[in-house]
Amino acid sequence: MIHLDHVTKKYHDFTAVDDLSFDAARGEIIGIIGHNGAGKSTTLKMIAGLIAPTRGSIYIMERDIQKHSVALKRQIGYLPEESPLYENMSARQYLAFFSELYALPRAAAQSRIESLLTSLHLQDPDQLIGEYSKGMKRKVAIARALLHDPALLILDEPNSGLDPLTSFFIIHYLKSLKREQKTILLSAHNLFHVEYVCDRVAIIKGGKLVVFDTMEAIRAGLGKREFQIVFRADETLEYERRDGNYVYRTHEIDAIAAMLEKISAQQWALIDLSVQESALEEIYVKLMSNPD
Ligand code: ATP
Repeated sequence: MIHLDHVTKKYHDFTAVDDLSFDAARGEIIGIIGHNGAGKSTTLKMIAGLIAPTRGSIYIMERDIQKHSVALKRQIGYLPEESPLYENMSARQYLAFFSELYALPRAAAQSRIESLLTSLHLQDPDQLIGEYSKGMKRKVAIARALLHDPALLILDEPNSGLDPLTSFFIIHYLKSLKREQKTILLSAHNLFHVEYVCDRVAIIKGGKLVVFDTMEAIRAGLGKREFQIVFRADETLEYERRDGNYVYRTHEIDAIAAMLEKISAQQWALIDLSVQESALEEIYVKLMSNPD
């Protein structure tokens, strides 16, 4: 689905992305992680066809994005790191407006919009976007990126600045898109999210790819870790107690996902979600603290 062949991007003399090669198969979710300024957004923008590499080539569905950008853009949904919305429109109006821009057939667009509003839990879709919370705005931006039903979704920090439950909802939603065989490329700073949702992970340092491997291989190399959720509930529950809160611990990432869903459904308050000795975290810290 995606093939990067020795891609370099220079801004004048500065090399933002340095000889990057990796690929992604259809239906795969790939996470790109790295420090601020590592070159994640630049890489995603090049794959989305928004900026051109200085050297190297990028193929989407076996076609060079530089040569077939118009045709390929129909297959790509891109969520920028910052995505301003039209605040004086409602979510429904905004999505209808974009479906007209994309020239989507009206009936199909309407049913697509309703299905995205439902699956993204966008309540009050007739309320003005300007009155929405940050999380709701991000969901509208994600709906916009998915409107034309692209095969490839490129998301630049989809969760940045969102509360833990909304972030988790979004990441869980992205995972559900695997059923539709969407290929997803996302950048993130929250390593728990990357670990939960990604099939393979690319770690970028100073524009260079330092690790590209499956989550299984990364996990297998680095033993078990514990996830921990701290939450508050007014009722008496059979969980460990700490400082007036409840604590839930597990080694299973899927159990954490189920617990987060339960907390959301029961309207308990999520206080904290942490990962001890996360496999990915360990690799990341080790690599990033190495000066080379
Ligand atoms: P962050 O996590 O902060 O979003 P990032 O990994 O996405 O960072 P990029 O935005 O890709 O990093 O930037 C990589 C490097 O390229 C940075 O040093 C940045 O300052 C530089 N850079 C990005 N865009 C430009 C530009 N248009 N002109 C000059 N330099 C740029």
